[in-house]
Amino acid sequence: MYVATNTCILAAEFDYVQPTTLEDVFSHLSQHGAQAQLIAGGTDLLVQMKMEQKSPAYLISLSRVRELQGITSSGGFTAGATASIWSLAKSEEVRLHYTALAEACEAFTSVPIMIMGTLGGNLCNASPAAKTAPPLLAFDANLSLASRGGRRDVPLEDFFLGPGQTVLREDEVLHSIQLAKPVPGTGSAFLKVGRVHADIAQVSAAVRLVLDGDQVIDCRIALGAVAPTPMRARRAEAFLTDRRFDSEGVEEVARIAAEEVKPIIDVRATAEYRRRVSGVIVRDALTTAWQRAGGGKLK
Ligand SMILES: Cc1cc2nc3c(=O)[nH]c(=O)nc-3n(C[C@H](O)[C@H](O)[C@H](O)COP(=O)(O)OP(=O)(O)OC[C@H]3O[C@@H](n4cnc5c(N)ncnc54)[C@H](O)[C@@H]3O)c2cc1C
Repeated sequence: MYVATNTCILAAEFDYVQPTTLEDVFSHLSQHGAQAQLIAGGTDLLVQMKMEQKSPAYLISLSRVRELQGITSSGGFTAGATASIWSLAKSEEVRLHYTALAEACEAFTSVPIMIMGTLGGNLCNASPAAKTAPPLLAFDANLSLASRGGRRDVPLEDFFLGPGQTVLREDEVLHSIQLAKPVPGTGSAFLKVGRVHADIAQVSAAVRLVLDGDQVIDCRIALGAVAPTPMRARRAEAFLTDRRFDSEGVEEVARIAAEEVKPIIDVRATAEYRRRVSGVIVRDALTTAWQRAGGGKLK
């Protein structure tokens, strides 16, 4: 069987359009249907085209659509789908209030990819290892999907269907990503383990804790690269919620989270390695988030 390994040459021919309004994007989508593909930074799609995994006849660029750009923070936080990974990593607002997201963006493998790559592209590509997915799950992100018929909101948790698959319809565009403002007493953290820095994560985890004294009153634990989609460790979350945060409890949460993951074996790691590392990074991320939330010395 022929398997393309070329990552240098774009062999197939295609038309490229750069609309400036969403209305024009929708027109191109309805005109070309399944033959068209949206492109934002192109850092996933162009690799797939060079590898001959995808060969769209029409590329519809989103990069000039103003409505999809930038980040705004009034009350909560909204990122346009084409906000770059770089802009999120460097945003004071994100670093201060959504620290786990800033850390995930900082952990991208190279500066050119951070500058070209977009938040929307990272989510719509739907890799189980997409780095922004665990922190966005931990912050209960909501996605706004736009089509000619209007908008619909989808919680990020319901967005992924499997590797490379989402609930986006052929006529839809991811418009923006919304996060609520964290309440006082919130701390978050992101950690990833990879073979080398410039490689996709073998395992990643993001956590968000809300504390009242040394009591955890709310918590999210999300992991990447350990299941067909980025996932929440719900049993681990339930165990930690409404209990005192102490070292014994954290070890138990880490053990439960490691039980919940459904890792695969691939060239990057064995399933057993991924499972064990999941527990370790959940424990470490929880401890960091606890300190950031104002928790004292861990008992
Ligand atoms: C060398 C290298 C290093 C990388 N390192 C990392 C890393 O460390 N962590 C990580 O998570 N990823 C990494 N990636 C993957 C990639 O850079 C990211 O996933 C990036 O965020 C993709 O964004 P993009 O704008 O380039 O997406 P594109 O390639 O433009 O699009 C990706 C997919 O999403 C669709 N799409 C894009 N925007 C929208 C939208 N608004 N609405 C609907 N569909 C849309 C496209 O049609 C396409 O199917 C790396 C890639 C390379 C080549």
